[in-house]
Amino acid sequence: MTRRVRTRIAPSPTGFLHLGTARTALFSWAFARHHGGDFILRIEDTDVARSTQEAVDQIIAAMKWLRLDYDEGPYYQMQRLDRYRQVVEQMLAEGSAYHCYCTPEELDAMREAQRARGEKPRYDGRWRPEPGKTLPAVPDGMKPVVRFRNPLDGDVTWNDMVKGPITISNRELDDLIICRPDGTPTYNFCVVVDDWDMQISHVLRGDDHVNNTPRQINILRALGAELPQYGHVPMILGPDGDKLSKRHGAVSVMQYQEGGYLPDAMVNYLARLGWSHGDDELFDRDQLIAWFDGAHLARSPAQWDAAKLNWVNAHVIKNTSDAELAPLVAQHFAARGIAAAAAPTLEALCALFKDRCATLVELADWLGMYFVEVSPREEDLAQHVTDAVRPALRALRDRLAEIDWDKGTIASSIKETLASHGLKMPQIAHALRVLVCGRVQTPSIDAVLALFPRETVLRRLQGV
Ligand code: GLU
Repeated sequence: MTRRVRTRIAPSPTGFLHLGTARTALFSWAFARHHGGDFILRIEDTDVARSTQEAVDQIIAAMKWLRLDYDEGPYYQMQRLDRYRQVVEQMLAEGSAYHCYCTPEELDAMREAQRARGEKPRYDGRWRPEPGKTLPAVPDGMKPVVRFRNPLDGDVTWNDMVKGPITISNRELDDLIICRPDGTPTYNFCVVVDDWDMQISHVLRGDDHVNNTPRQINILRALGAELPQYGHVPMILGPDGDKLSKRHGAVSVMQYQEGGYLPDAMVNYLARLGWSHGDDELFDRDQLIAWFDGAHLARSPAQWDAAKLNWVNAHVIKNTSDAELAPLVAQHFAARGIAAAAAPTLEALCALFKDRCATLVELADWLGMYFVEVSPREEDLAQHVTDAVRPALRALRDRLAEIDWDKGTIASSIKETLASHGLKMPQIAHALRVLVCGRVQTPSIDAVLALFPRETVLRRLQGV
């Protein structure tokens, strides 16, 4: 590869960062990093009516959260209008674009007539200058659009990084409007000028853009620009086989942050949606970068699998250090109005409970008993805090009031109490869990108790 690898993600800020766009961003980022190239963020905000600053902020926040760092940008298309106009002028001067004065009514009539003849509706080239052709008279006071002079014959062919060779006949393509009567450039044109100016070498994007590609290639050729390589990634489907949408659950990346997913898990999971490296399911960023060479991109659409994402997230949680987890869990508590951030035991709590959690929300749910009062269910109390164990619980409570407060001493206190009352471990352990933790299952009870302040345990055992 001789050309410097430069990729980009070009979201339109009309909403949050969608999972599909995040995946394309991830592929583009990983590909650039693999080749030691550049990754660029470009905000395609020419749809002024639908673009918002809030969406821009959210997109940038999501990229930051996923740690998809970009080397250039964000570039904003609305800040490049002069440049687009300049290229339009250049193309007009060179003859690769021309003014068209058709009124909307004329275009409607043209389409009607074509349909009536059983033809596919398309611009018929009436304002397209040709040697020896007489153009219609320019109507007074009317502002023209600018159309690209698409080649009439031949094919556009590219070797898609995902789909393989694609050929579209130029007969399928009519002369695209590149600039509206009010002087605003159109979407396909801005993309072309940007990809050219930004020297983009590889364009990875959703396959909803496949139809744009031959048009963009023709314009790039007319400009004498070096073509990027294109790769069109299939859509992500929901579990029912339809395009993934809100109907299927959260599609905004940042909702996954709220849902307690770790960015490394999202990156791992998203990477596997439409790309593979042998049978590897779990990998970190460095491995992804080392492996992501643009090969093995799947041609068929991937299906969203919430259970698999949970599995990956559980794995990442398990492998994240407690020092890193603690502040993240504290954020989830803060969102619930609980100040857990300062708890000296938070790291130890993460260590004890993280193995059983698919999300940080679940982890915070588990740890809730350490920060807010518990309310054991009546049926658990009835089943486990029986008259047979009450005397032992009282005796244990008295012991716990006096011992050194550590796991080992708590464990021996429990054992001694069991022995002196002729009980079995599960009997007292279950009762302790119900009373102190408000639930029947927990990790090893001595470890669980040791991380409470002693007073909390004594208080929750009061009155047994
Ligand atoms: N703005 C386009 C989108 O959000 C991206 C187009 C492209 O990648 O060329 O779908």
